[in-house]
Amino acid sequence: MSDIALVTGGNRGIGREVCRQLADRGFTVLLTARSEAAGKTAAAEAGAIPMRLDVTDNTSVVGAAAEVERRYGRLDVLINSAAITYDTWQLAESADLAVVHEAAETNLYGPWRMVQAFLPLLRKSSHPRIVNVSSEAASLARMGGGTPAYNTTKVALNALTRMLAAELRPDRILVNSICPGWVATDMGGLGGRPVAEGAAGIVWAATLPDSGPTGGFFRDGRPLPW
Ligand code: NAP
Repeated sequence: MSDIALVTGGNRGIGREVCRQLADRGFTVLLTARSEAAGKTAAAEAGAIPMRLDVTDNTSVVGAAAEVERRYGRLDVLINSAAITYDTWQLAESADLAVVHEAAETNLYGPWRMVQAFLPLLRKSSHPRIVNVSSEAASLARMGGGTPAYNTTKVALNALTRMLAAELRPDRILVNSICPGWVATDMGGLGGRPVAEGAAGIVWAATLPDSGPTGGFFRDGRPLPW
């Protein structure tokens, strides 16, 4: 049986392109989306299998894990790509904390919830990988002001990557944070690089050999400063 990868936020942007590239490599790709219709359309284009999943909804996440268990009995690659709120209109000093809270539900608790629900299935894989799609905006080494909801939730996601990598090392689960670079999507806007280039670094982390890194922060396969 081919390797099985699950991607959150697979209906558009970088997530959809990651699904397409993994399907091209022979993976069985579960393209998940919170809209069933959008997921079906994107999956048909990407050569993937659609599945409804809202990362903020525990019932949805647990239900999807049960469905993957029933159909495949394991998961080889989990890619947490879904994210919201690139809040260029806000500053930390005056940010609407309800907006920050809402962003955390998707950008931090979403991936966290996904990992907890899918860990039993990842443990059944012979080469499990978790890829958290982060951003260089989360690099504390270069942190400036602005986009506070986005930046703080991605910083926390990076912390989650570090903790999970350490905790899951005995299970040989490789866990990494990946920045796709500035990519021309609905979130990135005009001027970014093509989505295929941004997705390639995520596919790199999803297909690392067993000897590959864990607990790292990378773009295009090269380390970024935390
Ligand atoms: P995008 O085009 O805005 O797509 C975001 C995706 O996340 C959509 O599929 C969206 O689904 C999904 N999503 C949002 N909330 C969700 C939820 N509760 N449950 C499930 N799916 C949900 O963004 P993108 O540019 O492709 O970004 C993908 C990843 O790359 C994100 O983690 C982002 O932070 C990261 N990133 C992007 C850039 C960039 O320049 N684009 C740079 C650095 C990092 P709906 O269609 O239903 O809204």
